[in-house]
Amino acid sequence: MSIAAVGVAAPEWRVPVASIDAAWGRSPGRGTLAVCRSDEDPLTLAWAAADRAVAAAGVAPSGIDGMWWGCTRPPFAEGPSWSTLAATLHLAPEADGALLSGSTHAGLDALLAAADAVAAGRVDTALVVTSDALLPATGTGHETSAGAGAAALLLRRDGGPARLVHTAHRWEPRLDRYRGDREPETRETYDGRLFREQAYLPMLGAVGDALLVDATDAGRWSLPDPDGRLARALAKRLRAGTTSAQDVAAADRTRLGDLGSAATLVGAAAALGSPGPLHLLGVGGGRATGCTVIVDAPVPGAERVTADLSGGEEVAYTRVLRSRGVLRPTGESVEMAVPPGSAMFGRGAGEMLGLLAARCVDCGTMNTPPDVHPTCISCGSTKFDVVPLGRTGTVQTFVVNRTMPSPFEAPLPLVVVDLDDGGRIQLQGGDDGAELSIGAPVDLVLRRYAVERGVPVYGWKVLTRRPVAGTDEEVTS
Ligand SMILES: [Zn+2]
Repeated sequence: MSIAAVGVAAPEWRVPVASIDAAWGRSPGRGTLAVCRSDEDPLTLAWAAADRAVAAAGVAPSGIDGMWWGCTRPPFAEGPSWSTLAATLHLAPEADGALLSGSTHAGLDALLAAADAVAAGRVDTALVVTSDALLPATGTGHETSAGAGAAALLLRRDGGPARLVHTAHRWEPRLDRYRGDREPETRETYDGRLFREQAYLPMLGAVGDALLVDATDAGRWSLPDPDGRLARALAKRLRAGTTSAQDVAAADRTRLGDLGSAATLVGAAAALGSPGPLHLLGVGGGRATGCTVIVDAPVPGAERVTADLSGGEEVAYTRVLRSRGVLRPTGESVEMAVPPGSAMFGRGAGEMLGLLAARCVDCGTMNTPPDVHPTCISCGSTKFDVVPLGRTGTVQTFVVNRTMPSPFEAPLPLVVVDLDDGGRIQLQGGDDGAELSIGAPVDLVLRRYAVERGVPVYGWKVLTRRPVAGTDEEVTS
C-alpha cells in the first residue's frame, strides 16, 4: 500500500485572532484563523483538496475504487454528505467507501479504513479525504482557535513514493470537544489544563512512544495543536525536538488555526515532499491514533501544498459572524422558491453536481443540463450520451448585481460561460466580480449556494483565472 498523491485546501478568508478578542474585551491573541465564506463548508473544502490530489496522481476519477471521508461534522447531520461529494468528484457509481465522523479523530479513521481496504485487496485505489470547518461556540476560547481546511491522499495497492508502516492506538473516555444532539455549535471543556494533563499529553505521548519502538530516527511529526501550545509540549515530551513540531505542525497553525479532523494530514502534506520517516498523530473523542509513514521519494502534489495554504483575504470578525449565521439581517428576505426535497431537485441534483451535459450523437452539441433538453438545441436529435464537462471555460457575458435581498449577498455576479468542452451555462460568480471580463479564462469551483430549510445546496461558481507571479502556471483567483 502506498501514498501516490496529496492535495490540500484552505478557505478564502483569514480572521485575525486579535479582532475576535477585541470584540469580547480580552487581551489580543496572535495569528489568524482560516474561516469559511458563507458559500464554503467542509464539503466544498473536501472537494477542493480531493480534486487536487486526483489531479496530482494523474488518474481518472472514474478509475478510483473508493473514497473514505473523515469530517468531525459533515454538512448534512443525516443525509447525502458522502454521495454529494462523490458526485462532484465524478466518482464511478459503483465506488466503495465510508463517511467517518463524530470527533476530530475522524481524519485518522478515514486514513486507516482506506488503507485497510487497499491492504485487504477490496480496492486498488482509495481516496482519503479529511476536512473540517467547525462552528465554534460564539464568545468562547474555542472561537479563537477553530480554523478550517482539508487534505486528501490517493492510496494505491502497488508500490509508490511513500508507505504506511506502523500504527498505534490509545483510548480513554475523556470529554474534549462536544456538541449536544440539538446544538448548533461545538464546545470545548472549560478546563484546558484537564484536557492537556489527562487526555492530550498522556494519550498522544503513549501513541508516540509506541511508534518510536522500532524507529531509529525520530523523524518528523505532524501533531494536532488545539490551542496553539499543546504541540510544543507534546514534542518536548516525545523528545522529538522543537524543530520537528514547528516544521510540520505549528507553521500552518498560526495562520490557519486548529483544523480539527484535518489537522494531522494538512500538517503532514508538505512534508510528504521530502524523504524520511513521518509520524502522524491524531486525537479526539477520547481516542488517539498514530501512524508512521516512510517517504521514499517526493509524493506528487506535495510541491504545491505551501502555495495552496498561503494567501487568503483578511476579514473582520463581523463578516465571519454573518457567514456563520450568527449575525442576521432583519427585514425582507427572499426564500428559494423550490424546496430542496422536491422532485425538481431530486432529478436535477446529479447532473448539476456532476456538471453533466447531453452530447448529441448526431451533431456533437453539448446540451446543458440534460434533464431539460429532450431534443438537441442544434439539430433536434433525441440521441444523447450523458458526459461530465471539464471545469474550464471563457466568459461569454456577465452582469454584477449590486442590490440583493437577504439571504443573497451583493455584489453577486451572474456569468454566462462557454465551457472548453462545449456547452454554455449561466452560473454565479465566486467573488465580487471585479476581475471579470468578456473572453477571460475562468474555472468553475464547487461552492455552497444556500442552506434552504436546513438542507445545504451545492453548485458551481465562476472564478477568473490569473497567472501566478514568476511562473508559467495559472491559478484560480
Ligand atoms: Zn444535435
